Amino acid sequence: MSPRTSPRLVLVQGDITQQDVDAVVNAANSSLLGGGGVDGAIHRRGGPEILAACRALRASHYGKGLRTGQAVATTAGRLPARHVIHTVGPRWSATEDRSELLASCYRESLRIAAELGARTVAFPAISTGIYGWPLDDGARIAVETVRSTAAPGIEEVRFVVFDERAHEAFAGHLA
Ligand code: ADP
Repeated sequence: MSPRTSPRLVLVQGDITQQDVDAVVNAANSSLLGGGGVDGAIHRRGGPEILAACRALRASHYGKGLRTGQAVATTAGRLPARHVIHTVGPRWSATEDRSELLASCYRESLRIAAELGARTVAFPAISTGIYGWPLDDGARIAVETVRSTAAPGIEEVRFVVFDERAHEAFAGHLA
């Protein structure tokens, strides 16, 4: 039998802050200093250690903030996870195709998760909340990108969505 080369993809409807995985991906903004949606929930539940780590990153490496499509890891504070990987999704634009930036969020987060030795990673539906990306297209990009990205050592990628509509969108692309 050949060794497993790609992670199993799992879909869960729930709260990403409660996932018992090695790494949770945060739909952050470029300031890394917190926001609403997933970002707010992660900082609230994870406690001040995450924000302190983000502030240190701003001071050391990201004076101008984290660029769209990039990712960086911190402690997960009091979350069940060990790491939070912060990535900055693009805002939806009706006039400019920013799909490559959204795909980059998934690729870069997986690359960092693999570097950290994570075996299980949970993703939210990046950009589909406050940043306004159409849900079905966001789900398609998420699933296609994770499927086509090498992720050495990662056994499970879990898409964690908040509501029924997002669940249906992801289920359609995972089928
Ligand atoms: P963005 O700014 O990248 O759009 P948001 O955090 O506003 O990020 O939303 C991303 C997606 O995550 C949305 O589909 C939203 O419904 C969902 N979401 C919000 N809070 C949570 C949570 N605690 N767990 C999982 N998904 C969440």
